[in-house]
Amino acid sequence: MESIGILKEREKQIYRKGEEAFEIECEKKSLAGAVSQRACVFCGSRVVLYPIADALHLIHGPIGCASYTWDIRGALSSGPQLHRMSFSTDLKERDIVFGGEKKLYQALDTLIDLYHPKAAFVYATCIIGIIGDDIDSVCRRASKEKGIPVLPVHSEGFKGTKKDGYKAACEALAHLVGTGSTENIGQYSLNIMGEFNIAGESWTIKKYYEKMGLEVAAVFTGDGRVDKVSRSHGAKLNVVQCSGSMLHLAKLMEEKYAIPYLRVSYFGIEDMSKALYDVAGFFKDNLQIMQRAKEIVREEIGAISPEIKKYKKILSGKRAAIYVGGAFKAFSMIKALRSLGMEVVLAGSQTGNEQDYELLRDMCEEGTVIVDDANPLELSKYCLEKGVDLFVGGVKERPMAYKLGIGFCDHNHERKISLAGYSGMLNFAKEVYASVSSPVWQFAPERGKNNIPKDIMGGYIK
Ligand code: SF4
Repeated sequence: MESIGILKEREKQIYRKGEEAFEIECEKKSLAGAVSQRACVFCGSRVVLYPIADALHLIHGPIGCASYTWDIRGALSSGPQLHRMSFSTDLKERDIVFGGEKKLYQALDTLIDLYHPKAAFVYATCIIGIIGDDIDSVCRRASKEKGIPVLPVHSEGFKGTKKDGYKAACEALAHLVGTGSTENIGQYSLNIMGEFNIAGESWTIKKYYEKMGLEVAAVFTGDGRVDKVSRSHGAKLNVVQCSGSMLHLAKLMEEKYAIPYLRVSYFGIEDMSKALYDVAGFFKDNLQIMQRAKEIVREEIGAISPEIKKYKKILSGKRAAIYVGGAFKAFSMIKALRSLGMEVVLAGSQTGNEQDYELLRDMCEEGTVIVDDANPLELSKYCLEKGVDLFVGGVKERPMAYKLGIGFCDHNHERKISLAGYSGMLNFAKEVYASVSSPVWQFAPERGKNNIPKDIMGGYIK
């Protein structure tokens, strides 16, 4: 592993705190051949829109694009499950030569009659950008004939980065927002944005807000419904987590409907509490809301603190690496891992901008490696160099961590346990502990010298 080098063209996307002037390059297209961990534009739009459970999601392109994003997130739904189907126009060579519009229209016609969705999203993939199918006109025709919104998503895979996919999803949602009635939406109301209910997180957060006396008009897009999105412009505040994915829509809604927005994070005790206080502070004319926020914070922290302390005792001094989609999540992760006594020695994101990385630099200790749009070789190199005990990442980082003999916590698509809110923080601590302290790592060649705590049997603290 010592021989792993960094591609010359990527050197400026990696920064070591304290060892060089801060000049990180970011927000650029992935380097060809670098095997980026970053997903394509289409995938970016898919992850944002996918949790809208009563909509039809039709991928216009070859079958591979659909299978790549099939059931891409847990995205739990309390009702319909239509989002979990992965429909595709399955374009073949003949369609590429003669065009795929006819096939797209036929697919929409059949699927809408069969499943009666509340709306349909039609995703453009790379090949659509090349052959130039006019998906807008096909969507308009289907919408007129079927009487539901049929929304094109301009997410041609090659046209930029995953962030451009988020933007394409926001543009599609913007066509839906403002089409429903805002009757009965009260004065103390908000939309939760950038929360995708992968393992039930939206339900936890919604409960906190409702306990504070607030009304959640819509969630973008966890356990999402077309009707709720269409009337979301009646809410008085947009509360944006995962700003990379939803900030564009929040800004569009601010311009068009004068709805202000707040940026928050629901991961870790510190940021979760700050989110509740910030939202309560927005509705400052109602002092009861702040009062209830304080009660929730006190009760919830009181409930999890004794257990967190037990895990902290064992995890203190362990080292962690973080590689996530949006940098905002990395900030919360650093705080959450610190509250467990752990040190973050490698931090990176797929879509961070310069301000994000500046903030990351300020939060990190000297010597921390900060990396933009990394690849597995770079991540492996720094994990070994820094003697990392835990990797917090997503589905693409999991095999890398296991091969290196490093504990792993999925903080992205594949997790089945909620990691948001106070109960989520406790789940996070349990998962980190179980993975970092697993006796299995002593058999990994790179990690044979690990000290395994004596009081564990591969599970949670007894
Ligand atoms: S849209 Fe393009 S880059 Fe994305 S999965 Fe399809 S072919 Fe691959």
